[in-house]
Amino acid sequence: MQQNYQDAMAMVRKFGKPDLFLTFTCNPSCFEVLNCMEGVQRPEDRRDIIIRVFNMKLKELLEDICKHGIFGTVLTYIYVIEFQKRGLPHAHILLTLDSESKIRTKDDIDKFVSAELPDPCTDLRLFQIVTKCMVHGPCGTININSPCMRDGQCCKSFPKQFKDNAEENVNGYPIYRRRATEPVQVGKYSIDNRWVVPYNPWLLKIFNAHINVEMARMMPGLAAPSAYFLTTRTGELLTFDVKFNGNKEDLCVSNAEPTGSDAKTLPPGHHCYFHS
Ligand SMILES: [Zn+2]
Repeated sequence: MQQNYQDAMAMVRKFGKPDLFLTFTCNPSCFEVLNCMEGVQRPEDRRDIIIRVFNMKLKELLEDICKHGIFGTVLTYIYVIEFQKRGLPHAHILLTLDSESKIRTKDDIDKFVSAELPDPCTDLRLFQIVTKCMVHGPCGTININSPCMRDGQCCKSFPKQFKDNAEENVNGYPIYRRRATEPVQVGKYSIDNRWVVPYNPWLLKIFNAHINVEMARMMPGLAAPSAYFLTTRTGELLTFDVKFNGNKEDLCVSNAEPTGSDAKTLPPGHHCYFHS
């Protein structure tokens, strides 16, 4: 086990800082979940099904990213799964790309990350998924009771500002392109590009779920909570503390005791896996 830990530390040192930060949340309305409902059951009644589908989809997502290289060649990745008592299971994934695949320019950003509503005339399906899964809140003055509101402000800084072009680094944060276009009606709210959570169009259409894609290299305070699982290349499971240190911009991995791997037996919290 000590050797595995040393291997993991060496991998972090060798492959360096992550480039992309993804958050994937299970869609309880996807047909794989709905197909398993019996009688008057609703997805919230069958958390076991949601977790099973989530695990299956996460595996497919990681395969698309790591084996099929939709962002380029992945050197290594680490992910934290959060199984909360009530909320939907979701995974935070950090990817480190090889030097050829690094996302360096604003054109690279536009190629992989969009923060705009798609045109429903040219891509209706993507438009439907974005408006259903990738619109934040809304919050602020139009919905002061949104759960993201802290002391009258959105804790995730929505609505963002309109921006004609992406910018690589503004105070350590990436700024995505959000052009000032006509708002569209989403439910009872009028929504424009200031409310869109950044996403990758290709992934969104494949998975029909909330998949937030952000540039990780430029995020100064990307903090992952503690207490996690880590699998090695040989499939052995360890628990570790992992945090992405905003000041030093290091991914830190520290040791802890191993525990079980079955999602159903895991205590509520965060579980982390590391691969290369
Ligand atoms: Zn908000």
